[in-house]
Amino acid sequence: MTVPPLVRGWCPDMFAPMEARDGYLVRIRSPLGGFEGQQVLAIAELARRFGNGVVELTNRGNVQLRGFSSTSAKLALESALAEGLVDPDPAKERRRAILVSPLAGLDPACNPETLDVAQSLQTALLEENALSALSGKFGWAVDGGGYVPEGTLSADIALQSRPDGWSVVCGAMETGVLDNARAVRAAVVMSRICAENSDLGRPSRDADTAAFVLAKGGLEGIPCKPQGTRPVSLIGPLPGKVMGVGVPFGRCHAKDFEILAELAGTSRLRITPWRSVLLPQQDGTWPGFITSSVDPLLRVEACIGRAGCAKATADVVGTALALASDVPPGCVLHVSGCIKGCAHPRAADMTLVADDGHYEVVRNGRTTDTPSWHGRDIPQIRALLRHELKETQV
Ligand code: SF4
Repeated sequence: MTVPPLVRGWCPDMFAPMEARDGYLVRIRSPLGGFEGQQVLAIAELARRFGNGVVELTNRGNVQLRGFSSTSAKLALESALAEGLVDPDPAKERRRAILVSPLAGLDPACNPETLDVAQSLQTALLEENALSALSGKFGWAVDGGGYVPEGTLSADIALQSRPDGWSVVCGAMETGVLDNARAVRAAVVMSRICAENSDLGRPSRDADTAAFVLAKGGLEGIPCKPQGTRPVSLIGPLPGKVMGVGVPFGRCHAKDFEILAELAGTSRLRITPWRSVLLPQQDGTWPGFITSSVDPLLRVEACIGRAGCAKATADVVGTALALASDVPPGCVLHVSGCIKGCAHPRAADMTLVADDGHYEVVRNGRTTDTPSWHGRDIPQIRALLRHELKETQV
């Protein structure tokens, strides 16, 4: 297996594992937001047989498996291809990066054409080989709104539902309202312009890119609000008679993933970008999973930390577990193993960045912002949480 060099815009997948402290990690993209039961079982088997058994949910609604050797990652790829979990063409596989409203087809308030439009977009993207030049981080979304409001899904190019059709949102600009076919075509044209102009930043990251892309594509556009800035907690009973079940820190063992497949029965297991899965609503218990929207674990975000990443200098998950009950409702504590901030690439009420076994503490900011406090341990952070975040709530 050839492990690709670390270059800008590179993302791991089954063809391109990424090295971590606990071995290589791989990602499997969910087909339009969900897996069939057999696919879930196949993924659990890959994790157990070839990796270290850990299954993680990503903030793009995909799954990540860890702990592979270079040999076992190669065997896992062969198995994934045989199970139809990935496209045989690595370049096409990268173009399956489409987020779809998690409740599409279930929530009566979500545009009923969302899944059809997502399928059309995927077909069009797979046919467009010129898009192989796009960054591996480039992503699309089909955002049908409803219970999960329009604008919640983050993407470089998103089709967003409007009363009479779809607007195509490219970074900070959006087109007028288009019908299904024209919206898909516009999204492909915009993507092609991004691919042909490799010096452009991604639309979701670079405000100038969107205006250039729309002008070059001959599309009229107007400024719009930033996308994907508000995570949504899809936990508990939801529209469409489904149950949102949270996976603590987005991380579970293969056997838990198999339990989710059993609970999903004949339904697809939908994976949300917010570390939860959707199951047919039913009474019962889900030991080890989060079923209450007020569970304190939902107030903390944490990467794998020292257990799996060489960049971390602290037991990030242990710290998050120790502090969860000190975070008041409505607030978010982000515990990060380093400044990269993988688990929560946004601002939080309080952000901790591990530094030589202690933490730098940022108030109302992200990992890259200037810390207000330095070198704090858990008791000191607990005192800060009580003082700072309780004051916020008064
Ligand atoms: S935030 Fe840093 S320590 Fe945590 S997983 Fe990402 S790179 Fe590793």
